[in-house]
Amino acid sequence: MAKTKTFYQCQACGHSTPRWMGKCPDCGQWNTLVEEKEPRGGSRKLNAGPGAVPQPLSSVREQETERTSTLIGEFDRVLGGGIVTGSVVLIGGDPGIGKSTLLLQAMAKLEGPVLYVSGEESPEQIKLRADRMGLTSDSIMLMPETSLESVLLAASDMQPSALVLDSIQTMRTEELDSAPGSVGQVRDCAAKAMFYAKSSGVPAFIIGHVTKDGAIAGPRVLEHIVDTVLYFEGDRGHSYRILRTVKNRFGPTNEIGVFEMSDQGLRGIENPSEMFLSERPEGVAGSVVIASIEGTRPVLVELQALVSQTGFGVPRRTSIGMDHQRVSLLVAVLEKLGGMQLSGMDIFTNVVGGLKLVEPALDMGVILALTSSLREKPIPPDLIAFGEVGLSGEIRAVSQAETRLKEAAKIGFKRAIIPKNNAERVPAIKGIEVIGVSNISEALEAAGL
Ligand SMILES: [Zn+2]
Repeated sequence: MAKTKTFYQCQACGHSTPRWMGKCPDCGQWNTLVEEKEPRGGSRKLNAGPGAVPQPLSSVREQETERTSTLIGEFDRVLGGGIVTGSVVLIGGDPGIGKSTLLLQAMAKLEGPVLYVSGEESPEQIKLRADRMGLTSDSIMLMPETSLESVLLAASDMQPSALVLDSIQTMRTEELDSAPGSVGQVRDCAAKAMFYAKSSGVPAFIIGHVTKDGAIAGPRVLEHIVDTVLYFEGDRGHSYRILRTVKNRFGPTNEIGVFEMSDQGLRGIENPSEMFLSERPEGVAGSVVIASIEGTRPVLVELQALVSQTGFGVPRRTSIGMDHQRVSLLVAVLEKLGGMQLSGMDIFTNVVGGLKLVEPALDMGVILALTSSLREKPIPPDLIAFGEVGLSGEIRAVSQAETRLKEAAKIGFKRAIIPKNNAERVPAIKGIEVIGVSNISEALEAAGL
């Protein structure tokens, strides 16, 4: 294959050099130079032939997307209802969290052949893993390869029903000199896979490792190239795995798929609320259940807080599964308006089950859990709470209150503390008593704190 002319460009300031350097000579930043290809031929003309034709908004029809089910309900859910023809899906996450396992399981159920390219593991290793999981499939064709050109050549011969690149960090295109895993390689290989998928209609799955030290170009650089981005949340220490849709051209984002890791691979959990609450301690201070909306479904999750006197020096503040800044803000609200002394306290907050929550609706749960821990008073186990907390301690309405309450009633909760504005609008739901509150002191009182 003919070498394309390449150069290195600083991603911070745009300076370009013919050779790679660790430090940009212009802006002085480290590791910002990325290999780029010289544009082929002159610049494109503006009136270069037929392009898109403007059309009235009212005449735009929804495109029918062709989908294939993976037969794994939770995986179909995060994809927006199955695999879309010619789409490119990036699956990111920590090494060892279950990305290859999930794809092996899903691909084994597809009508073959599926071209499974592995630059990470040998065919023998993959076979061993498949045997352990009890997968018997004639549809998966394994290819140990790292050259993207060879992969695409094999793909155009085979015309597979799907293509898997495991992982993008091991792939390299011969057009660039930089090493596999560098930003230039990762980006260019993904773009080539994208072009292949679009022109052939073959859906492609790209596995990308997220590394904490950032030594290898992570999947983040690919997010804007691909159609769908899924990230695994949670850690290897837990048996639960959460696959979240971060971007999806063909469906809703923020959707989550919940799985349990077992010897047989990943098992979809259809009722995540029950799972997240399965190990909940009862009668313990600092624990509260909140109702969150994840994508299109409600999920009940346990929030925990631990407030204790600082042993020495600066108080420690740690939040797992929720935004640290948001928690600091709520602590400040409790100090100022709840009259609590929290400045000399270590404060830890945790979302049980490895879920990451971003919704403001969890605010009220944080307030209740913190107070419960500080005052060492447990919150009744049959109570759930949700609502946004404002800076002056007011409780603000949140969306989909009815959906949250229905889920709580289904799981067997008897009482719900929710924003007054929501309580006034929501229809009565059998089995659950709704308590509307308009500020944090009403909320604390309703929870018996
Ligand atoms: Zn620079």
